[in-house]
Amino acid sequence: MPAPLTSGSEALFARARAVTPGGVNSPVRAFNAVGGTPRFIREATGPWLTDVDGNTYVDLICSWGPMLLGHAHPAVVEAVQTAAARGSSYGTPTEGEVALVEAIVARTPVERLRLVSSGTEATMSAIRLARGFTGRDVVVKFAGCYHGHVDSLLAAAGSGLTTFSLPGTPGVPASSTELTLVLPYNDRAAVTAAFAEHGDRIACLITEAAPGNMGVVPPAPGFNQFLAETCRAHGALFVSDEVMTGFRVSKAGQWGTDGAVEGWAPDLMTFGKVMGGGFPAAAFGGRADVMSHLAPEGPVYQAGTLSGNPVATAAGLATLTAADDAVYDRIGVVADALRAGIAETFTAAGLPHVIQSTGSMFSVFLTDAPVTSYDEAQRTDVAAYGALFHAMLDQGVHLPPSAYEAWFVSSSHDDRAVQQVLDALPAAATAAAAAQGGTR
Ligand SMILES: *Cc1c(COP(=O)(O)O)cnc(C)c1O
Repeated sequence: MPAPLTSGSEALFARARAVTPGGVNSPVRAFNAVGGTPRFIREATGPWLTDVDGNTYVDLICSWGPMLLGHAHPAVVEAVQTAAARGSSYGTPTEGEVALVEAIVARTPVERLRLVSSGTEATMSAIRLARGFTGRDVVVKFAGCYHGHVDSLLAAAGSGLTTFSLPGTPGVPASSTELTLVLPYNDRAAVTAAFAEHGDRIACLITEAAPGNMGVVPPAPGFNQFLAETCRAHGALFVSDEVMTGFRVSKAGQWGTDGAVEGWAPDLMTFGKVMGGGFPAAAFGGRADVMSHLAPEGPVYQAGTLSGNPVATAAGLATLTAADDAVYDRIGVVADALRAGIAETFTAAGLPHVIQSTGSMFSVFLTDAPVTSYDEAQRTDVAAYGALFHAMLDQGVHLPPSAYEAWFVSSSHDDRAVQQVLDALPAAATAAAAAQGGTR
Protein backbone atom coordinates (compact mmCIF):
# COMPACT_ATOMS: atom_id res chain seq x y z
CA MET A 1 0.00 0.00 0.00
CA PRO A 2 1.77 3.16 -1.17
CA ALA A 3 1.16 6.00 1.24
CA PRO A 4 -1.08 8.69 -0.27
CA LEU A 5 0.49 11.91 -1.52
CA THR A 6 0.12 14.62 1.11
CA SER A 7 2.07 17.57 -0.27
CA GLY A 8 -0.99 19.83 -0.13
CA SER A 9 -1.64 19.05 3.54
CA GLU A 10 2.05 19.48 4.33
CA ALA A 11 2.14 22.92 2.72
CA LEU A 12 -0.98 24.03 4.56
CA PHE A 13 0.32 22.65 7.85
CA ALA A 14 3.52 24.69 7.42
CA ARG A 15 1.46 27.82 6.66
CA ALA A 16 -0.79 27.10 9.63
CA ARG A 17 2.05 26.60 12.07
CA ALA A 18 3.45 30.00 11.13
CA VAL A 19 0.30 31.74 12.30
CA THR A 20 -1.50 29.39 14.72
CA PRO A 21 -0.04 27.51 17.73
CA GLY A 22 0.70 23.97 16.54
CA GLY A 23 -1.06 24.78 13.28
CA VAL A 24 -4.46 23.77 14.63
CA ASN A 25 -7.41 25.27 16.47
CA SER A 26 -7.92 22.33 18.83
CA PRO A 27 -4.88 20.33 20.01
CA VAL A 28 -5.85 16.75 19.09
CA ARG A 29 -6.03 17.70 15.40
CA ALA A 30 -2.25 18.23 15.25
CA PHE A 31 -1.49 14.45 15.21
CA ASN A 32 0.95 14.90 18.14
CA ALA A 33 -0.21 11.60 19.64
CA VAL A 34 0.35 9.61 16.44
CA GLY A 35 2.95 11.66 14.54
CA GLY A 36 2.79 12.75 10.93
CA THR A 37 0.95 15.46 9.07
CA PRO A 38 -2.71 16.13 9.77
CA ARG A 39 -4.88 15.90 6.69
CA PHE A 40 -6.42 19.23 5.70
CA ILE A 41 -9.95 18.39 4.60
CA ARG A 42 -11.45 20.13 1.60
CA GLU A 43 -14.93 18.64 1.69
CA ALA A 44 -17.00 15.86 3.12
CA THR A 45 -20.14 14.02 2.18
CA GLY A 46 -21.85 11.16 3.99
CA PRO A 47 -19.09 9.01 5.57
CA TRP A 48 -16.34 10.31 3.24
CA LEU A 49 -13.68 12.95 3.83
CA THR A 50 -11.69 14.36 0.90
CA ASP A 51 -8.42 16.10 1.68
CA VAL A 52 -6.75 18.92 -0.25
CA ASP A 53 -4.62 16.37 -2.15
CA GLY A 54 -7.73 14.57 -3.36
CA ASN A 55 -7.35 11.52 -1.06
CA THR A 56 -10.61 10.14 0.32
CA TYR A 57 -11.09 8.54 3.72
CA VAL A 58 -13.87 6.76 5.53
CA ASP A 59 -14.47 9.11 8.47
CA LEU A 60 -14.46 7.50 11.92
CA ILE A 61 -14.11 10.85 13.72
CA CYS A 62 -17.38 12.39 12.57
CA SER A 63 -16.25 15.76 13.97
CA TRP A 64 -15.77 14.00 17.35
CA GLY A 65 -19.44 13.18 17.58
CA PRO A 66 -21.73 15.77 15.99
CA MET A 67 -22.13 14.17 12.54
CA LEU A 68 -24.69 11.53 13.54
CA LEU A 69 -26.22 11.67 10.06
CA GLY A 70 -22.93 11.94 8.19
CA HIS A 71 -21.59 14.98 6.34
CA ALA A 72 -23.70 17.36 4.26
CA HIS A 73 -26.94 15.53 5.00
CA PRO A 74 -29.49 16.99 2.54
CA ALA A 75 -32.05 17.93 5.21
CA VAL A 76 -29.41 19.72 7.29
CA VAL A 77 -27.91 21.53 4.29
CA GLU A 78 -31.35 22.73 3.23
CA ALA A 79 -32.26 23.92 6.73
CA VAL A 80 -28.97 25.79 7.02
CA GLN A 81 -29.27 27.43 3.60
CA THR A 82 -32.82 28.54 4.31
CA ALA A 83 -31.87 29.94 7.72
CA ALA A 84 -28.75 31.71 6.46
CA ALA A 85 -30.68 33.39 3.68
CA ARG A 86 -32.95 34.90 6.33
CA GLY A 87 -30.05 36.50 8.17
CA SER A 88 -27.57 34.80 10.42
CA SER A 89 -28.04 36.45 13.82
CA TYR A 90 -30.47 38.97 15.27
CA GLY A 91 -29.85 39.12 19.03
CA THR A 92 -33.60 38.73 19.55
CA PRO A 93 -35.63 35.59 20.32
CA THR A 94 -36.64 33.35 17.39
CA GLU A 95 -39.08 30.50 16.80
CA GLY A 96 -36.22 28.14 15.88
CA GLU A 97 -34.81 28.32 19.41
CA VAL A 98 -38.17 27.37 20.89
CA ALA A 99 -38.52 24.45 18.49
CA LEU A 100 -35.03 23.09 19.20
CA VAL A 101 -35.50 23.35 22.97
CA GLU A 102 -38.90 21.64 22.67
CA ALA A 103 -37.30 18.80 20.67
CA ILE A 104 -34.69 18.27 23.39
CA VAL A 105 -37.23 18.50 26.21
CA ALA A 106 -39.33 15.89 24.39
CA ARG A 107 -36.45 13.40 24.28
CA THR A 108 -34.87 13.90 27.69
CA PRO A 109 -35.93 14.38 31.33
CA VAL A 110 -35.04 18.11 31.33
CA GLU A 111 -37.90 20.49 32.10
CA ARG A 112 -36.20 23.78 31.15
CA LEU A 113 -33.24 24.33 28.88
CA ARG A 114 -30.93 27.17 27.94
CA LEU A 115 -29.00 27.22 24.65
CA VAL A 116 -25.31 28.15 24.50
CA SER A 117 -22.63 27.79 21.81
CA SER A 118 -20.25 25.08 23.07
CA GLY A 119 -20.12 22.15 25.44
CA THR A 120 -17.56 24.04 27.51
CA GLU A 121 -20.03 26.87 28.02
CA ALA A 122 -22.74 24.38 28.94
CA THR A 123 -20.77 22.69 31.73
CA MET A 124 -19.33 26.00 32.96
CA SER A 125 -22.83 27.45 33.21
CA ALA A 126 -24.29 24.32 34.83
CA ILE A 127 -21.66 24.46 37.55
CA ARG A 128 -22.24 28.14 38.19
CA LEU A 129 -25.95 27.46 38.44
CA ALA A 130 -25.42 24.50 40.79
CA ARG A 131 -23.28 26.67 43.04
CA GLY A 132 -25.77 29.53 42.91
CA PHE A 133 -28.71 27.23 43.63
CA THR A 134 -27.14 25.36 46.54
CA GLY A 135 -25.09 28.18 48.00
CA ARG A 136 -22.16 25.71 48.16
CA ASP A 137 -18.78 25.80 46.42
CA VAL A 138 -17.26 22.32 46.07
CA VAL A 139 -17.55 20.42 42.78
CA VAL A 140 -16.87 16.68 42.47
CA LYS A 141 -15.62 15.21 39.18
CA PHE A 142 -13.99 11.99 38.04
CA ALA A 143 -10.46 11.48 36.73
CA GLY A 144 -10.56 10.95 32.98
CA CYS A 145 -13.89 12.72 32.50
CA TYR A 146 -13.58 15.73 30.21
CA HIS A 147 -16.12 18.51 30.47
CA GLY A 148 -14.58 21.04 28.10
CA HIS A 149 -11.84 23.46 29.05
CA VAL A 150 -13.52 25.03 32.06
CA ASP A 151 -10.82 26.25 34.49
CA SER A 152 -12.28 24.57 37.55
CA LEU A 153 -12.71 21.26 35.71
CA LEU A 154 -9.21 21.09 34.25
CA ALA A 155 -8.02 19.32 37.33
CA ALA A 156 -5.72 16.34 37.49
CA ALA A 157 -6.49 13.43 39.75
CA GLY A 158 -5.02 13.75 43.19
CA SER A 159 -3.24 10.67 44.42
CA GLY A 160 -5.39 10.26 47.50
CA LEU A 161 -9.07 9.50 47.17
CA THR A 162 -10.41 12.71 48.64
CA THR A 163 -7.67 15.21 47.96
CA PHE A 164 -8.56 18.54 46.47
CA SER A 165 -6.82 18.84 43.20
CA LEU A 166 -4.14 20.73 41.39
CA PRO A 167 -4.68 22.38 38.02
CA GLY A 168 -4.05 20.09 35.04
CA THR A 169 -2.59 22.91 32.95
CA PRO A 170 -0.53 26.06 33.41
CA GLY A 171 -2.72 29.15 33.30
CA VAL A 172 -5.28 27.84 35.76
CA PRO A 173 -4.58 29.23 39.22
CA ALA A 174 -4.69 26.81 42.14
CA SER A 175 -7.59 28.88 43.46
CA SER A 176 -9.66 27.74 40.46
CA THR A 177 -9.35 24.03 41.22
CA GLU A 178 -8.96 24.03 45.01
CA LEU A 179 -12.71 23.56 45.26
CA THR A 180 -12.69 20.64 42.80
CA LEU A 181 -12.56 17.13 44.20
CA VAL A 182 -11.36 14.49 41.72
CA LEU A 183 -12.32 10.86 42.31
CA PRO A 184 -11.54 7.60 40.48
CA TYR A 185 -14.31 6.61 38.05
CA ASN A 186 -16.63 3.72 38.86
CA ASP A 187 -15.45 3.78 42.50
CA ARG A 188 -18.48 3.81 44.81
CA ALA A 189 -16.37 3.72 47.97
CA ALA A 190 -14.49 6.87 46.93
CA VAL A 191 -17.77 8.67 46.25
CA THR A 192 -19.24 7.59 49.59
CA ALA A 193 -16.10 8.69 51.43
CA ALA A 194 -15.95 12.07 49.68
CA PHE A 195 -19.56 12.85 50.49
CA ALA A 196 -19.17 11.63 54.08
CA GLU A 197 -16.29 14.03 54.58
CA HIS A 198 -17.38 17.06 52.51
CA GLY A 199 -21.09 16.45 51.79
CA ASP A 200 -22.40 19.71 53.25
CA ARG A 201 -19.97 21.72 51.06
CA ILE A 202 -20.65 19.93 47.77
CA ALA A 203 -22.69 21.94 45.24
CA CYS A 204 -22.71 19.23 42.59
CA LEU A 205 -21.14 16.13 41.19
CA ILE A 206 -20.52 16.28 37.45
CA THR A 207 -19.84 13.16 35.39
CA GLU A 208 -19.85 12.15 31.77
CA ALA A 209 -23.05 10.09 31.49
CA ALA A 210 -20.79 7.44 29.99
CA PRO A 211 -17.18 8.57 29.73
CA GLY A 212 -15.94 8.78 26.15
CA ASN A 213 -13.01 11.15 26.57
CA MET A 214 -10.59 8.56 28.02
CA GLY A 215 -11.82 6.06 25.46
CA VAL A 216 -15.23 4.58 26.20
CA VAL A 217 -15.45 3.51 29.84
CA PRO A 218 -19.07 2.67 30.56
CA PRO A 219 -20.52 3.19 34.01
CA ALA A 220 -20.81 -0.06 35.99
CA PRO A 221 -24.47 -1.15 36.16
CA GLY A 222 -26.31 1.12 38.58
CA PHE A 223 -23.38 3.53 39.01
CA ASN A 224 -25.18 6.62 37.65
CA GLN A 225 -28.24 5.85 39.79
CA PHE A 226 -25.96 5.51 42.82
CA LEU A 227 -24.46 8.93 42.01
CA ALA A 228 -27.90 10.51 41.66
CA GLU A 229 -29.01 9.04 45.00
CA THR A 230 -25.81 10.01 46.81
CA CYS A 231 -26.14 13.60 45.60
CA ARG A 232 -29.78 13.73 46.67
CA ALA A 233 -28.99 12.38 50.14
CA HIS A 234 -26.50 15.21 50.65
CA GLY A 235 -28.44 18.08 49.07
CA ALA A 236 -26.03 18.29 46.14
CA LEU A 237 -27.03 18.39 42.47
CA PHE A 238 -26.26 15.56 40.07
CA VAL A 239 -25.02 17.00 36.76
CA SER A 240 -24.92 14.51 33.91
CA ASP A 241 -22.73 15.66 31.01
CA GLU A 242 -24.25 14.23 27.83
CA VAL A 243 -22.37 16.49 25.41
CA MET A 244 -20.91 13.42 23.71
CA THR A 245 -23.49 10.74 24.50
CA GLY A 246 -26.62 12.86 24.06
CA PHE A 247 -28.73 11.84 21.04
CA ARG A 248 -25.97 9.39 20.05
CA VAL A 249 -26.03 6.45 22.48
CA SER A 250 -29.81 6.40 21.97
CA LYS A 251 -32.56 8.87 21.04
CA ALA A 252 -32.45 9.93 24.70
CA GLY A 253 -28.69 9.55 25.01
CA GLN A 254 -27.07 7.53 27.79
CA TRP A 255 -29.97 8.46 30.09
CA GLY A 256 -32.27 6.59 27.71
CA THR A 257 -30.35 3.41 28.58
CA ASP A 258 -30.10 3.84 32.37
CA GLY A 259 -32.13 6.60 34.04
CA ALA A 260 -35.17 6.09 31.83
CA VAL A 261 -35.14 2.37 32.65
CA GLU A 262 -34.29 2.67 36.33
CA GLY A 263 -36.62 5.61 37.00
CA TRP A 264 -34.33 8.48 37.97
CA ALA A 265 -33.28 11.73 36.34
CA PRO A 266 -30.26 14.02 36.76
CA ASP A 267 -30.88 17.44 38.33
CA LEU A 268 -29.00 19.11 35.48
CA MET A 269 -27.79 17.85 32.09
CA THR A 270 -25.48 19.27 29.44
CA PHE A 271 -25.70 18.69 25.70
CA GLY A 272 -23.69 19.64 22.62
CA LYS A 273 -22.19 17.88 19.59
CA VAL A 274 -25.13 16.04 17.91
CA MET A 275 -27.68 18.69 18.94
CA GLY A 276 -25.81 21.31 16.88
CA GLY A 277 -25.72 19.21 13.72
CA GLY A 278 -22.13 20.35 13.07
CA PHE A 279 -22.73 23.96 14.10
CA PRO A 280 -21.86 25.66 17.40
CA ALA A 281 -24.89 24.87 19.53
CA ALA A 282 -24.99 23.34 22.99
CA ALA A 283 -27.29 23.51 26.01
CA PHE A 284 -27.75 22.93 29.70
CA GLY A 285 -31.02 22.20 31.44
CA GLY A 286 -32.84 20.20 34.04
CA ARG A 287 -35.22 20.66 36.96
CA ALA A 288 -37.49 23.67 36.52
CA ASP A 289 -36.92 24.86 40.11
CA VAL A 290 -33.14 24.81 39.57
CA MET A 291 -33.26 26.42 36.14
CA SER A 292 -35.49 29.22 37.47
CA HIS A 293 -32.46 30.50 39.38
CA LEU A 294 -30.97 31.57 36.05
CA ALA A 295 -31.15 35.20 34.87
CA PRO A 296 -33.49 36.86 34.01
CA GLU A 297 -35.84 34.68 36.10
CA GLY A 298 -33.34 34.35 38.94
CA PRO A 299 -30.06 35.83 40.16
CA VAL A 300 -27.46 33.53 38.52
CA TYR A 301 -26.01 35.37 35.53
CA GLN A 302 -25.47 33.65 32.18
CA ALA A 303 -25.64 35.05 28.63
CA GLY A 304 -24.32 34.77 25.07
CA THR A 305 -24.29 36.97 21.94
CA LEU A 306 -24.67 33.96 19.63
CA SER A 307 -26.68 31.71 21.99
CA GLY A 308 -29.58 30.19 20.05
CA ASN A 309 -28.06 31.34 16.76
CA PRO A 310 -30.68 30.86 14.01
CA VAL A 311 -28.40 28.95 11.61
CA ALA A 312 -27.05 26.65 14.34
CA THR A 313 -30.50 25.97 15.76
CA ALA A 314 -31.80 25.17 12.27
CA ALA A 315 -28.98 22.63 11.79
CA GLY A 316 -29.62 21.12 15.20
CA LEU A 317 -33.36 20.86 14.74
CA ALA A 318 -32.98 19.32 11.27
CA THR A 319 -30.55 16.78 12.73
CA LEU A 320 -32.77 15.77 15.64
CA THR A 321 -35.81 15.64 13.35
CA ALA A 322 -34.03 13.33 10.92
CA ALA A 323 -32.62 11.14 13.71
CA ASP A 324 -35.42 8.57 13.75
CA ASP A 325 -35.35 4.92 14.78
CA ALA A 326 -33.94 3.91 11.39
CA VAL A 327 -30.93 6.19 11.95
CA TYR A 328 -30.16 4.64 15.34
CA ASP A 329 -30.70 1.14 13.92
CA ARG A 330 -28.23 1.80 11.10
CA ILE A 331 -25.61 3.21 13.47
CA GLY A 332 -25.99 0.07 15.58
CA VAL A 333 -25.50 -2.17 12.54
CA VAL A 334 -22.38 -0.25 11.47
CA ALA A 335 -20.89 -0.35 14.97
CA ASP A 336 -21.60 -4.09 15.26
CA ALA A 337 -19.91 -4.81 11.91
CA LEU A 338 -16.82 -2.78 12.86
CA ARG A 339 -16.58 -4.30 16.34
CA ALA A 340 -16.80 -7.82 14.90
CA GLY A 341 -14.15 -7.05 12.27
CA ILE A 342 -11.81 -5.50 14.84
CA ALA A 343 -12.17 -8.45 17.23
CA GLU A 344 -11.51 -10.97 14.48
CA THR A 345 -8.54 -9.27 12.81
CA PHE A 346 -6.83 -8.13 16.03
CA THR A 347 -7.13 -11.61 17.50
CA ALA A 348 -5.72 -13.13 14.31
CA ALA A 349 -2.77 -10.69 14.46
CA GLY A 350 -2.09 -11.45 18.12
CA LEU A 351 -2.82 -7.84 19.06
CA PRO A 352 -4.24 -7.55 22.61
CA HIS A 353 -7.39 -5.47 22.59
CA VAL A 354 -10.55 -4.66 24.52
CA ILE A 355 -13.52 -3.15 22.71
CA GLN A 356 -15.65 -1.10 25.11
CA SER A 357 -19.09 0.24 24.27
CA THR A 358 -22.15 2.02 25.41
CA GLY A 359 -24.77 1.44 22.77
CA SER A 360 -23.21 2.11 19.37
CA MET A 361 -20.48 4.33 20.86
CA PHE A 362 -17.27 2.35 21.22
CA SER A 363 -13.53 2.55 21.47
CA VAL A 364 -10.65 0.10 21.30
CA PHE A 365 -8.06 -0.20 24.07
CA LEU A 366 -4.88 -2.00 23.04
CA THR A 367 -4.51 -3.89 26.31
CA ASP A 368 -5.81 -7.21 27.53
CA ALA A 369 -8.03 -6.41 30.51
CA PRO A 370 -11.25 -4.37 30.68
CA VAL A 371 -10.80 -0.68 31.49
CA THR A 372 -12.99 0.72 34.27
CA SER A 373 -11.06 3.87 35.25
CA TYR A 374 -8.60 6.48 34.03
CA ASP A 375 -5.66 4.66 35.63
CA GLU A 376 -6.55 1.50 33.72
CA ALA A 377 -7.02 3.44 30.48
CA GLN A 378 -3.33 4.39 30.66
CA ARG A 379 -2.45 0.75 29.94
CA THR A 380 -3.42 1.08 26.28
CA ASP A 381 -0.41 0.69 23.98
CA VAL A 382 0.02 4.11 22.38
CA ALA A 383 2.87 3.03 20.11
CA ALA A 384 0.78 0.20 18.70
CA TYR A 385 -2.11 2.62 18.26
CA GLY A 386 0.10 5.02 16.29
CA ALA A 387 1.02 2.21 13.90
CA LEU A 388 -2.61 1.15 13.62
CA PHE A 389 -3.69 4.72 12.93
CA HIS A 390 -1.19 5.30 10.14
CA ALA A 391 -1.78 1.93 8.47
CA MET A 392 -5.51 2.67 8.43
CA LEU A 393 -4.92 6.21 7.15
CA ASP A 394 -2.74 4.90 4.32
CA GLN A 395 -5.62 2.62 3.33
CA GLY A 396 -8.22 5.41 3.35
CA VAL A 397 -9.68 5.17 6.87
CA HIS A 398 -9.40 8.16 9.20
CA LEU A 399 -9.41 7.02 12.83
CA PRO A 400 -9.23 9.51 15.70
CA PRO A 401 -5.56 10.57 15.98
CA SER A 402 -5.35 9.55 19.65
CA ALA A 403 -5.52 6.24 21.49
CA TYR A 404 -7.90 7.67 24.11
CA GLU A 405 -10.85 8.60 21.93
CA ALA A 406 -14.11 7.00 20.88
CA TRP A 407 -14.48 5.89 17.25
CA PHE A 408 -17.55 7.62 15.82
CA VAL A 409 -19.83 6.29 13.11
CA SER A 410 -22.86 7.76 11.39
CA SER A 411 -26.04 6.55 9.75
CA SER A 412 -24.47 7.49 6.40
CA HIS A 413 -21.80 4.78 6.76
CA ASP A 414 -23.05 2.52 3.98
CA ASP A 415 -21.91 -0.99 3.17
CA ARG A 416 -19.11 0.28 0.90
CA ALA A 417 -17.66 2.48 3.64
CA VAL A 418 -17.93 -0.32 6.21
CA GLN A 419 -16.24 -2.75 3.81
CA GLN A 420 -13.37 -0.32 3.21
CA VAL A 421 -12.74 -0.26 6.96
CA LEU A 422 -12.99 -4.05 7.28
CA ASP A 423 -10.60 -4.52 4.35
CA ALA A 424 -8.04 -2.18 5.94
CA LEU A 425 -8.05 -3.85 9.36
CA PRO A 426 -5.87 -6.97 8.79
CA ALA A 427 -2.78 -5.09 7.54
CA ALA A 428 -3.24 -2.41 10.18
CA ALA A 429 -3.55 -5.01 12.96
CA THR A 430 -0.34 -6.64 11.77
CA ALA A 431 1.47 -3.29 11.75
CA ALA A 432 0.16 -2.50 15.24
CA ALA A 433 1.16 -5.90 16.60
CA ALA A 434 4.70 -5.33 15.30
CA ALA A 435 4.87 -1.91 16.97
CA GLN A 436 3.72 -3.09 20.40
CA GLY A 437 5.60 -1.72 23.37
CA GLY A 438 7.60 0.69 21.23
CA THR A 439 7.98 4.38 21.86
CA ARG A 440 6.03 7.12 20.26
C1 LIG B 1 -16.81 17.62 23.72
C2 LIG B 1 -17.21 17.59 25.16
C3 LIG B 1 -17.33 18.76 25.92
C4 LIG B 1 -16.90 20.11 25.41
O1 LIG B 1 -17.63 20.52 24.32
P1 LIG B 1 -17.01 21.68 23.37
O2 LIG B 1 -18.12 21.99 22.43
O3 LIG B 1 -15.81 21.07 22.73
O4 LIG B 1 -16.67 22.82 24.25
C5 LIG B 1 -17.83 18.67 27.21
N1 LIG B 1 -18.18 17.47 27.72
C6 LIG B 1 -18.07 16.32 27.03
C7 LIG B 1 -18.49 15.04 27.65
C8 LIG B 1 -17.56 16.34 25.73
O5 LIG B 1 -17.40 15.19 25.06
